[in-house]
Amino acid sequence: MEIKRNTLFISILWTLLIAASFTWNYKQTQQAQEQLALQTARSIFDHIIITRRWNAQHGGVYVPVTTTTVPNPYLQVPMREIQVNDSLTLTKINPAFMTRQISEVAMAQEGIQFHITSLKPLRPENKATENEEVFLKEFEQGVKEAGLFIGHDEKTSFFYMAPLKTEKSCLPCHEKQGYKEGDIRGGISVTLPFTQSTPFGALLLAHIGIAITGLLGIFISGTRLDRAYAIIQRQAVIDSLTGISNRHRFSEHIVTEFERSNRERGPLSVIMCDIDHFKKYNDTYGHGSGDKCLRNVAQEIKKSVTRPGDFCARYGGEEFVVILPDTTHKGALHVAERIRLNIIKLQILHEKSSPLPVISLSLGVATSTDPPLISHEELLKNADSALYVAKANGRNRVESYTFSTKAIEL
Ligand code: GH3
Ligand code: MG
Ligand code: MG
Repeated sequence: MEIKRNTLFISILWTLLIAASFTWNYKQTQQAQEQLALQTARSIFDHIIITRRWNAQHGGVYVPVTTTTVPNPYLQVPMREIQVNDSLTLTKINPAFMTRQISEVAMAQEGIQFHITSLKPLRPENKATENEEVFLKEFEQGVKEAGLFIGHDEKTSFFYMAPLKTEKSCLPCHEKQGYKEGDIRGGISVTLPFTQSTPFGALLLAHIGIAITGLLGIFISGTRLDRAYAIIQRQAVIDSLTGISNRHRFSEHIVTEFERSNRERGPLSVIMCDIDHFKKYNDTYGHGSGDKCLRNVAQEIKKSVTRPGDFCARYGGEEFVVILPDTTHKGALHVAERIRLNIIKLQILHEKSSPLPVISLSLGVATSTDPPLISHEELLKNADSALYVAKANGRNRVESYTFSTKAIEL
């Protein structure tokens, strides 16, 4: 029972451990992916800043005017356009316009979107979205960057934003707006496609596999341990040759029964049995036959004591003992006589025995109330004395412990 409980406890612990490992691994993978998204977005952001810095260092760069690149109406600088010849006019692109144009290319080719924005935008297109507005306000409080997954359950995009700081190269254009070096002018948001693909199924399957293997191991070892324990438990109380209780079990049982009979003030009887001339049997038929005979006699004694509380054990070599709780001396004599007759009925040939040429028993009966006794040792000693009388009186007989038996002892 103890082993079964322990096996169950270990199984529950193992399952919890695997569940914890699964949760931890899943979270780690998720975090690693989020970190990857954050680092990708950061590096894109840095790349934009470097490109803008390059543009600002040149005070803007000239590109041909085309249908898609028209002069920037918000850029109020001298020589915004340069007519090179009839077919080529160049227009100045400042960092903001360049960022927008790069964003369009990135969006068309990679699905990556940048948005340059501010809480006070000059262009209406630069107006902050809901998320951007929240983060822009946070940047003003000193927050360095922000990132979050957007989309529904699948988390389809990663949105990143960091503040746009006024650098020295920005001052020629932005100083007149009142910005100094280091001031936050707004921010750039980067939205990149990012589907979180945590290997939930594979992780779950691997953990279920480990859990089942472990549980099987625990179950198999638990069952084996349980069986081994049952065998050991049995061996501790059962006599291996005859299959009935052993002397150790008897010693415990007699103490319990004697105490109980004392408490309940009821009679407790003991019968000591000894096979007659058993040495001669061994000498005549061999030790193997002797063992077989002992097994048969033991089983027959066991069958002869039928009441639920009755108990029999192998006391030693060819000696057996029977405990009969709540049994008077008279009743115990009846049981002893039944045992004696049943052994005779087995008709185990023993030519050199006497008085009969078959295996027989001599039996001594003693009862705790007859006379009243103070210990179980005394009760056993009395049964043994009665047995001694049975041997002395010619064997194959039942004798009871009486004052006359005591007289013989003396
Ligand atoms: P008595 O009628 O006076 O009891 O004579 P006995 O020969 O039965 O008694 P004794 O005490 O002289 O001998 C008991 C014999 O029981 C000795 C031994 O050979 C035999 N014996 C004890 N244990 C075992 C056993 O486990 N197996 C076998 N085969 N014989 C055993
Ligand atoms: Mg003996
Ligand atoms: Mg004997």
